[in-house]
Amino acid sequence: MADARAKESNLHRNILIGLILGAVLGVVANRVVADSPDGREVLAWALRNVVDPIGEIFRRLLVLVVVPLVFASLSLGVARLGDLSQLGRIGAKTFGYFLVTTTFAVVIGLALVQWISPGTQLSPETRQGLEQQFRGAATERLSRPAEFGISTFVNIVPDNPLRAAVEMQMLPVIFVALLVGIGLTRIDPAKSRSVQQVLEGIGELTLFIIHLAMRVAPVGVFALIFSTSAKFGFELLQSLGLYVATVLLGLSIQMFGVFPILLTVLGRMNPWLFFRRIRTVILTAFSTSSSSATLSTSMAVAQEELKIPKPLAGFVLPLGATMNMNGTALFEGVTVLFLCQIFGRSLAFDEQIIVVLMSVLIAIGAAGVPGGSIPLLGMVLATVGIEPGAIAIILGVDRLLDMCRTTVNVTGDLTAAVYVARSEADRPAQPEMDAA
Ligand code: ASP
Repeated sequence: MADARAKESNLHRNILIGLILGAVLGVVANRVVADSPDGREVLAWALRNVVDPIGEIFRRLLVLVVVPLVFASLSLGVARLGDLSQLGRIGAKTFGYFLVTTTFAVVIGLALVQWISPGTQLSPETRQGLEQQFRGAATERLSRPAEFGISTFVNIVPDNPLRAAVEMQMLPVIFVALLVGIGLTRIDPAKSRSVQQVLEGIGELTLFIIHLAMRVAPVGVFALIFSTSAKFGFELLQSLGLYVATVLLGLSIQMFGVFPILLTVLGRMNPWLFFRRIRTVILTAFSTSSSSATLSTSMAVAQEELKIPKPLAGFVLPLGATMNMNGTALFEGVTVLFLCQIFGRSLAFDEQIIVVLMSVLIAIGAAGVPGGSIPLLGMVLATVGIEPGAIAIILGVDRLLDMCRTTVNVTGDLTAAVYVARSEADRPAQPEMDAA
């Protein structure tokens, strides 16, 4: 046991070293080649042929287990929870928590952006320069379909569950897993038992694969962070510094102010302990910028480190990775108002409420992949009368913000799981849960 703990803590240390080394060497490489076209070419070659493939393999190792892991743990979880009223109660708590914390995050963002007012400090020349530089990238991002409407809800019910699994559409996969879980409590117990055994086996196997993947995490994290910082336009940080600072301040308030309060009051857990136990998840979210790629790690950490019962982790975390994005919502709110400030468009109170509502909806609808919320951001901008292409202004710093908001998104999912687990444990006699 002590040996396992020591190994774990070595792994954490090595991942952290990978992250710091990746960031430092990436920045150095970025600076060294800044004035040399030949150097830039060599760096681009090394990134394309060595560093990016390593990072991509690591990301894929994490993602490849997501569908079977979510399916197995959720359907098994529901089967063990037994009756539908439990499921309804847990579902209501989970969604209630998601909605309240996401709304809170947007409100923090809006309050900060009004107070700091970064948009009024940006000179028209800088704005035009940024628009020109990133116009192409913005058009490309916005050309990806960003549909959000009634079809988003209809699509939760798949016509072909295998296609949903193959295309990694998590909400339909969750829907089918719920149906299967409920079915397992209704069919002949002998047959149900054998299906459950297979699902249990799949769950164990996926955890085994996640642990293998985490062994190469120090190298994977190094590659991802090196690549991001080597490509990053640091000069942009100067012109967009105040905007970046506003987003980061908001994310820090949510992460180190709101979450600890919720953990203490609702989850009755020491926040310090919580953050220590979820270190791997934080590092993975930060380096991959993807809630989906972090899901397998957070499922393992929730069960093994936070001791959250499997059925609850299997229910709350996959839903959270797809629908609960506190950091993204905060980022959307700040960005919309920042761009409004730049274009001298002041929003009335009711328009600000619309921004809050749309930011919350977009946080639900955005895909948990790097930059997943950007196409939807264009939609909110159009609603408040700003040309969607204006996202070009912030695109150059988006990756840095994405890393930070994804970390907040995923941490928010884990706080939700802690809250739901605590409130369920506080209920009188839960035999099914204890057995799980
Ligand atoms: N990258 C974010 C996530 O995966 C989504 C976004 O805000 O673009 O959680």
